[in-house]
Amino acid sequence: MTSRVRFAPSPTGFLHVGSARTALFNWLHARSVGGTFVLRIEDTDAERNRSDLTDSLLAELEWLGLDWDEGPYFQSERRDRHREVVEDLLGSGQAYLCDAENREVDGSTMVDGLAVRFRMPAGATMAFDDIVRGEVSFATDDLEDFVIWRSNGSPMFLLANAVDDADMGITQAIRGEDLLSGVPKVLLLLDAMGAPRPTYAHLPLLVNEQRKKLSKRRDDVSIGDYRERGYLPEAMVNYLALLGWGPPDEVEIRPLDEIVDLFRIQDVNKAAAFFDLKKLEHVNATHLRALARDDFIDRVAPWVGDDAPWPPERFDAGLFSVMVDLAQEKLRTLGDVTRFVDFLFLEDPVDDPESWEKAMVKAPLATEMLDGAAAVLADCAWDTASVLAAVAEVGESLGLKLGKAQAPVRVAVTGRTVGPPLFETMAECMERAEVLRRIARARARL
Ligand code: GLU
Repeated sequence: MTSRVRFAPSPTGFLHVGSARTALFNWLHARSVGGTFVLRIEDTDAERNRSDLTDSLLAELEWLGLDWDEGPYFQSERRDRHREVVEDLLGSGQAYLCDAENREVDGSTMVDGLAVRFRMPAGATMAFDDIVRGEVSFATDDLEDFVIWRSNGSPMFLLANAVDDADMGITQAIRGEDLLSGVPKVLLLLDAMGAPRPTYAHLPLLVNEQRKKLSKRRDDVSIGDYRERGYLPEAMVNYLALLGWGPPDEVEIRPLDEIVDLFRIQDVNKAAAFFDLKKLEHVNATHLRALARDDFIDRVAPWVGDDAPWPPERFDAGLFSVMVDLAQEKLRTLGDVTRFVDFLFLEDPVDDPESWEKAMVKAPLATEMLDGAAAVLADCAWDTASVLAAVAEVGESLGLKLGKAQAPVRVAVTGRTVGPPLFETMAECMERAEVLRRIARARARL
């Protein structure tokens, strides 16, 4: 039997990193076993049944490269079928009508305004073998008769979920650990319908640095936000694949097609996975460096285009291309490019108070250093080695090592204490007169 796996998100208007990890693991499983990846939008809640909430979700999945073979199916369009199953369960006595006070009402067909509850069998154990968590069991005596149809005429989530998995022939359900406790109820429904059970794999919780469950309020959880900051989709899926799984050869940073070859859902572990932003950055930087130069230029283009902070007419593609290799080597995200090169295209360097404080106010001898640099840079040869030697010499005469000596010059010229290699950029990308103007401007401010 071929595998049929599904990603079944409830639309929330954005793609959560946890949800993206679930989508990815389903996709990886489907691709690694040659199965079918089905996309089903679980929009039974009326207010979630809005296309703008779904459009962004589909767009992010496409951006990540998680293509689906079937769907998207919309749960909201299957209400008649959900109703039919509830009718059947009522007819067979496995479910019953109930009123607003939760009292059972006699009757074997659905009645407008009355809810339907599933009748929990007494004294049974619902056990199943979860691919990640091993054997899991729940006693039905600990579970209540649960609502499967609301009095307002809509299906409950678990009912729709069970019916759709059955009708769509789903063989594996890979999803977040938070859904584990709903499994016994879904199994009861599937058994009552006479439908086969899929196997389940519940992926470990994602936690932040404080080992707390990722939350929308505290943490950066939107895939779209990472896209906008200039994370690469290949880095994003690479990193997400490591949240609960690791390749047997322990080579963590690699292309997705290799991950498909190595992935086995049985190898997913159950310990909570730390969503480590530093590691994500590192994975992203590694994928950035691996891009072909032209590809890097294409991908970084939006961040040096019309939305960049400098006047568009000041952008100089030739100058930018001198910076491209340095940028590709040093940046962690595409979005970082803006602050890496902005000093070349802005009229004056940005005012970064922290950098100013550190290199100009707190550092000893900043004034002397700027005066000395202005003097030597006025007539040294204009190449990287000469510019470096000139600034180093001023530093030495003041008893400053090169790192300390160049800091005020860097802030005067670029606005920040960190950035591209200073002497190289000055000599190769800037005119002497402009460098001197900026040093004088900073000096006047001191
Ligand atoms: N729609 C559910 C959610 O977004 C997932 C259901 C499932 O994967 O079975 O939480």
